[in-house]
Amino acid sequence: MLDNTRVERLEAEAVNSAKVRQPMYAARKKIFPKRASGSFRRFKWLVMAITLGIYYLTPWLRWDRGAFAPDQAVLLDLANRRFYFFFIEIWPQEFYYVAGLLVMAGVGLFLITSTVGRAWCGYTCPQTVWVDLFLVVERAIEGDRNARMKLDAGPWTARKLVLRVSKHAIWLVIGAATGGAWIFYFADAPTLVGELFTGTAAPVAYVTVAVLTATTYTFGGLMREQVCTYMCPWPRIQAAMLDESSLTVTYNDWRGEPRSRHAKKVQAAGQSVGDCVDCNACVAVCPMGIDIRDGQQLECITCALCIDACDGVMDKLGRERGLISYATLSDYNANMMLATAGGSGSVKPSLVRTADGLFSDKVSHFHIRKIFRPRTYVYMGVWSLIGLGLLYSLLTRDRLEVNVLHDRNPQFVTLSDGSIRNGYTVKLLNMIPEPRTIVVTMQGLPRADMSVVGDDIPAGRSFAIPVEPDRLKVLKVFVRQPAGQIQGTARTFTFRVEDKASFESDEYTATFNAPEIAR
Ligand code: SF4
Ligand code: SF4
Repeated sequence: MLDNTRVERLEAEAVNSAKVRQPMYAARKKIFPKRASGSFRRFKWLVMAITLGIYYLTPWLRWDRGAFAPDQAVLLDLANRRFYFFFIEIWPQEFYYVAGLLVMAGVGLFLITSTVGRAWCGYTCPQTVWVDLFLVVERAIEGDRNARMKLDAGPWTARKLVLRVSKHAIWLVIGAATGGAWIFYFADAPTLVGELFTGTAAPVAYVTVAVLTATTYTFGGLMREQVCTYMCPWPRIQAAMLDESSLTVTYNDWRGEPRSRHAKKVQAAGQSVGDCVDCNACVAVCPMGIDIRDGQQLECITCALCIDACDGVMDKLGRERGLISYATLSDYNANMMLATAGGSGSVKPSLVRTADGLFSDKVSHFHIRKIFRPRTYVYMGVWSLIGLGLLYSLLTRDRLEVNVLHDRNPQFVTLSDGSIRNGYTVKLLNMIPEPRTIVVTMQGLPRADMSVVGDDIPAGRSFAIPVEPDRLKVLKVFVRQPAGQIQGTARTFTFRVEDKASFESDEYTATFNAPEIAR
């Protein structure tokens, strides 16, 4: 017999579910999530520690790139238009790496969502992580659910004022730390932190910190679940990525119904009861203010805290865990058909259990192979291909480049000796943080020579020029061909650049223009 006398019933109401959701501009009904404990909560603590740790600490990691490049491991150097990520340095023209990573993140999100539902929302979304952090502060100062509700409903006293001021002050400090950490990604963190506190940082740094402090405080502390319910498009988009084999947090009413708060009495009266004792523990812990027993809802971020809460209740009742669990729609439907004798009536607990109270062998359970299906294979394949392509490109990319721009006006100049001269802007890109000497050679155009404007390099078919580390060097080059050698109005030739030390090289095919009359 189901004995629920040891399970406390909480006065919790789902204030945010579709059934009771207020119009958008109605006053928000406050939610006071109770502290959950269990394996999913522990996993969320771990994810929270890792994600916050990465966010706050990354700008302080150092990476030695030599004397000519910054030593911050991750740096978006907007002034010099460089992105440093440990041993990788991305130039503006290599932005496709960032685009590729964003595409990979998108496809990865599709893969995760089609496999385990909104895991991104429940565990790693910044909104979820920061709301969790703000709730930690709130609980530490004001207490758990009941204490917070009592405090909120009570009159303003000195104690309430002190608690509220303390809570909001710490939230603001977290907001400022969040904004502060963000700007450290754009400048040398140790230098910038000193400038920030001495009032010598750029105004944009203070403005950015202020804006991010305000948004973090507002979204994480004040708006919380409203950001997910009303502002975020992801709950609406995710439905397209779920199928009957996706895992989502599910209330298994095929074993929970008919629910009863007075299971003993009901059973004594000869009626059957399901495993749900209507204790509301799942509602009380929900940070979104919903009741998962109402079915799938766009508000549910699949944080799985209701699973922890209900598992705790099932442990007390001596029932199998998993009344609320990660389940696929196909398993749920199969079990529902079993519990309702093929959909012909209401749920009968006896249909899913054997005489000794155990689950029937016919009950469907999740199997790991359901993760591997055509849809997830396609996502994994696309994700891997993009990743391998980026990796290959990264490992084989050139760190020495030449780009050439032919003068548009004039296209050529006829000199007093009848020779023809063309002008070019030659751009040498030294993409390593070391100085090097680049040898520029021209190939083709017999007997032509080149000279560098503003440099005392003698005219010839080759010259060597030093290029600063991690810099673009722009040269104005004249190419001259004697009159007797002109063979057409437009002939191609090649600028070849080479670093003799590393044997890296690059080439650019340019055009030499001449007048018709010169032939
Ligand atoms: S689903 Fe579980 S936690 Fe929720 S009311 Fe029923 S028994 Fe309680
Ligand atoms: S219903 Fe459960 S999984 Fe969904 S948001 Fe609430 S606690 Fe998290």
